[in-house]
This record gives sequence, structure tokens and C-alpha cells, in this order.
Amino acid sequence: MAGESPLSAPGPVLLLGAPGAGKGTQAKQLMAAWMIPQISTGDILRGNVARQTQLGMAAKSLMDRGDLVGDDLVNSMVADRLAQADCVRGYILDGYPRTLQQARWLDAHFQNKQAETIPLIAVNIRISYTSLMRRITGRRTCPVCQRIYNVHLQPPVQDGICDVDGATLTQRADDKEEVVAERMKAYDSLTAPVIDHYRAQGRFAEVDGEQPVEKVFADVVTQLRRLRGQAGAGGVR
Ligand code: AMP
Repeated sequence: MAGESPLSAPGPVLLLGAPGAGKGTQAKQLMAAWMIPQISTGDILRGNVARQTQLGMAAKSLMDRGDLVGDDLVNSMVADRLAQADCVRGYILDGYPRTLQQARWLDAHFQNKQAETIPLIAVNIRISYTSLMRRITGRRTCPVCQRIYNVHLQPPVQDGICDVDGATLTQRADDKEEVVAERMKAYDSLTAPVIDHYRAQGRFAEVDGEQPVEKVFADVVTQLRRLRGQAGAGGVR
């Protein structure tokens, strides 16, 4: 329902799901609706690669191959980000944790801060392998406003050009088909167990990611509200 106020304290939110499940798109909508930051470890790493920082240089070849960056590097990057002032009311972690080691690090991080922390809630966006491949290989991003398009599913009005600012859209190097296969292998062996980890902890829900973006968003918000014990607190937002 338009005009409804967002949750007063959304707290920490995890968006889980395979590459291409729509975590980034959903996180951006949630960020706008609830006014909390999206923390995408992939975006932070890509920013470091672009700026050629030490972290970026260590991560680049792994990312280009579709392999995961080391847990310690990513955990300390997340620790720095969570310490920033805009995370006080809550935040959306997108693409993290990606391994059980990262999930355990995050659990410990919360235990250390238990007194002031609202418990973490997690939503997994489920989607079939065929849909993932279509979404990832069709994905294009605007380098200026970061808007995400899909050449098959959500094309821009003019081929290859951002509707918002006219910039030329780009394809992530790791969205090319041969690298996607490696990323999916990493997901199956290392990240899928993270979903079971949070399912076992409770405060966990799943939504069907095959639906239109707006419907997925409505379901994500409904589940997050339910997990925060605020179901029915005024519309989907
Ligand atoms: P993403 O944009 O989330 O698909 O991430 C792009 C790439 O960044 C991944 O394929 C990994 O190489 C790296 N990456 C992002 N997040 C993580 C993470 N939590 N742990 C390890 N590597 C990551």
C-alpha cells in the first residue's frame, strides 16, 4: 500500500540465493522502501578492482575466474562496512555470507554485539537453473546509475542504452557463459550449505524468485515483516 511507513527498525536482513536469483534487484527496492543500505560484497569488491586497491588486486583474478574471494578478506571488508553509521537501523546483506565460514563469522560478530543487536533474519530467493542462466547471461548494468536490465526480460527502450541517463550498458565480465558455470559450481558446493545453516537457525523464509519482480518484492517484504513479528502492520511495506 503506497504511503505506508517502513519498519522503524528493520535490523539486519540477509538476502540469499544463487547468482542471478534477483538479490541485487530486490535489495535495491528494499533499500529505497526501508531506507537502509544494501551491502553487496560483490559491488564492494568490484569497486576495489576498479580503484586498483590492494584488496581489488588480490580479488580480481579470482573474480574473473568465477571463484570466491578468501573468507578472511571478505569478513574484514564486511566488518568495516557494518561499523559505518548508516547501518545503525539495519542493512541488507546481498551476496554475503557465501560460505559456512563466513556465516559462522557473522554469527560470532552478532554474539559479540548481542546487547544492542536486533536478530538477523534471512530470506532465500529460489529459482531454477534454466532461469538463472537466462538472467545472468542477459544481464546488463548501467555504469552510471547502476540500474540493472536484462536483454531478454527487461530490455532498455533503446538497445544497449540506459533509459535513465543514456549511458552505454555494460556486461559484467563474470556474467559470460563460461564463467557463470564456475560461479554455479562454487555456489553448489560452498554457498548452498549456508541456506541450510540459516534454515536450521529459524528466522528464515523462502520466496519463489520465478515470479515477476514486483510479486517477488511483495513476498520478500511480507516474509521479512512476518519474521520481525510485524505481519499486518500496514500493507506490504
Ligand atoms: P556477486 O556480484 O555477488 O555475484 O559477486 C561477484 C564475485 O565477487 C563472486 O563471483 C566472487 O568472486 C566475489 N564475491 C562476492 N561476494 C563474495 C563473498 N561473500 N565471498 C567470496 N567472494 C565473493
